[in-house]
Amino acid sequence: MERFQPHRVLIEERALDYELGHNLYNYFSQKRVELKVICSHNRVTGIPGKNPRQSYLEAKRTLVIGVRQSKDFQTCKPSAHYQLPLVTSCPGKCEYCYLQTTLGKKPYIRIYVNLDEILERAKSYIAAKRPEVTIFEGAATSDPLPVEYLTGALAKAIDFFGREQFGRFRFVTKFTDVETLLKVNHQGHTTVRFSINSPYVINNFEHATPPLAERIAAAGKVASKAYPLGFIIGPILHYSGWQEDYDKMLANLRIKLPVSTDTIAFELITHRFTTSAKKNILELYPQTKLPLNEEERQLKYGQFGYTKYVYPQEIMSELREFFFARIKKYFPQAEISYFV
Ligand code: SF4
Repeated sequence: MERFQPHRVLIEERALDYELGHNLYNYFSQKRVELKVICSHNRVTGIPGKNPRQSYLEAKRTLVIGVRQSKDFQTCKPSAHYQLPLVTSCPGKCEYCYLQTTLGKKPYIRIYVNLDEILERAKSYIAAKRPEVTIFEGAATSDPLPVEYLTGALAKAIDFFGREQFGRFRFVTKFTDVETLLKVNHQGHTTVRFSINSPYVINNFEHATPPLAERIAAAGKVASKAYPLGFIIGPILHYSGWQEDYDKMLANLRIKLPVSTDTIAFELITHRFTTSAKKNILELYPQTKLPLNEEERQLKYGQFGYTKYVYPQEIMSELREFFFARIKKYFPQAEISYFV
């Protein structure tokens, strides 16, 4: 899959004072993109769009380069202690993406140039907790890999955590441009997780993301460099032919992964939706084939007070049994971190 190329780049004036900001400005000056210097990355205007879908598509082609001001990190329970703020949003266009609900109508991609300051702050969080280990999540509000070729932020973070005895890093991606991460001295302190799904789900709902075979090949490369590895399978959809598709996916994963898979961890997430997510999805993808009929679902009360529609109990049990059995068959040593 081709690398992400923004059509529009907005760079905060202050970002030009940083080496990365300066380099990116020069890089995009040579490209055929709309390039503009703006006062603040928090006041982004000028992304066109006459309706929600157009605004969304234009935002997904827009890259904003800024200086991260806030010193504090958001917490990231339960999978990590803190979010590591490297990137916001992603050029992928998954119909079900939670960022459509959390980032508003214009989910433009934002990167930061003051990486050293961000990692310095991470260092102080680690120091405050030691000898306890502090875990940071690099993909809480983004998929950080598609813009890695521009920022080098993941490589820098992986190298940083490789040198931190009491710090650990993790991120998840659907993308595959992992070459630059392969030579970083990670010391086993960074877990790379790939989000995978059946070709049916990828083709119908995960637009502008790499196909399954490429994701598996990228996971193989990462595994060959002894990174701790994980897979998120989600959203798991219960459609006609799901057993065969997911079985093939896991069998193929088994064949293609080159090394011992003792430490692999799987996270299993069944499809669910909230009322506001459904509204946003229908606005952006009116023809969506996502199963969004409340009558076929069971209502579940979420921990933050909102309700979500999950599969009814008998389907949940069927999915759970299937995935636990198949993962045991193909990856007897693997851990299933959770099934929801
Ligand atoms: Fe959202 Fe991840 Fe898809 Fe990007 S790849 S659109 S972050 S679900």
